[in-house]
Amino acid sequence: AGSLYVVATPIGNLDDLSARASSVLAQVSLVAAEDTRHSARLMRHLGIAPKMISLHDHNEGARVAQLATHLANGEDVALISDAGTPLISDPGYVLVRELRAGGYRVIPVPGPCALVTALCAAGLPTDRFTFHGFLPAKGSARRGRLEQWIKAPETLVFYESPHRIRDTLTDIAGLFGARRVVLGRELTKTFETFLDGDAGTLLEQMAADPDQARGEFVVMVEGAPEVEKSSSDIDAEALLGALLAEGVGV
Ligand code: SAM
Repeated sequence: AGSLYVVATPIGNLDDLSARASSVLAQVSLVAAEDTRHSARLMRHLGIAPKMISLHDHNEGARVAQLATHLANGEDVALISDAGTPLISDPGYVLVRELRAGGYRVIPVPGPCALVTALCAAGLPTDRFTFHGFLPAKGSARRGRLEQWIKAPETLVFYESPHRIRDTLTDIAGLFGARRVVLGRELTKTFETFLDGDAGTLLEQMAADPDQARGEFVVMVEGAPEVEKSSSDIDAEALLGALLAEGVGV
């Protein structure tokens, strides 16, 4: 049987496509792409013209059986998205899950991913982080989500669109106050910028220079400071536990 290659493509700079990705795309029988017209540009850049079919959120389920047939016939298939790594805030999860369950080989061809690109140059702790994809579009749902993370000690990472970046920063300013935020904007592209400061300061910078609110963003928020338990707190807890265990009414 053939294999499914999950191939990462550039997030802005075409030179970031790996040599392996380029040879896989040239060799497979079929490329499943989110938007085939968008990806045709990448193929032209590579000087190849593979057969392509669309695979997006609305037809992914229906595509599974079709692509499994190609694999069963011994043909290799590549999955790409418009930018970066497929499945990361992009389609492909259902396909990969089902093909793996069907016993097919799924081979990752790693490369660009906006969240890792942003984190590795932001200067925020990277030993622990959580990635949250896109926040809810509605204000109340978005604030509800952000509230859940206020006490999280790890770096928070999420994606944001230019339409909502100001609203999201306003919500972060309200909930996280002076907490450090780093914005990675237009990564790997001509106008790549990192803005660093509390959310209120970043909003002021955007007001002064509206270009700073354009393009694609990765938002990173520093984790909450760890609260060390003082020894007297621990003793009180231990004492309370012991008293309760003894059945003493407290
Ligand atoms: N699969 C992609 C990846 O591996 O990063 C993410 C796809 S998601 C639909 C698109 C979002 O990723 C954008 O709204 C933005 O938040 C982020 N993104 C993609 N390219 C970016 C770039 N060059 N600079 C900053 N953020 C980017």
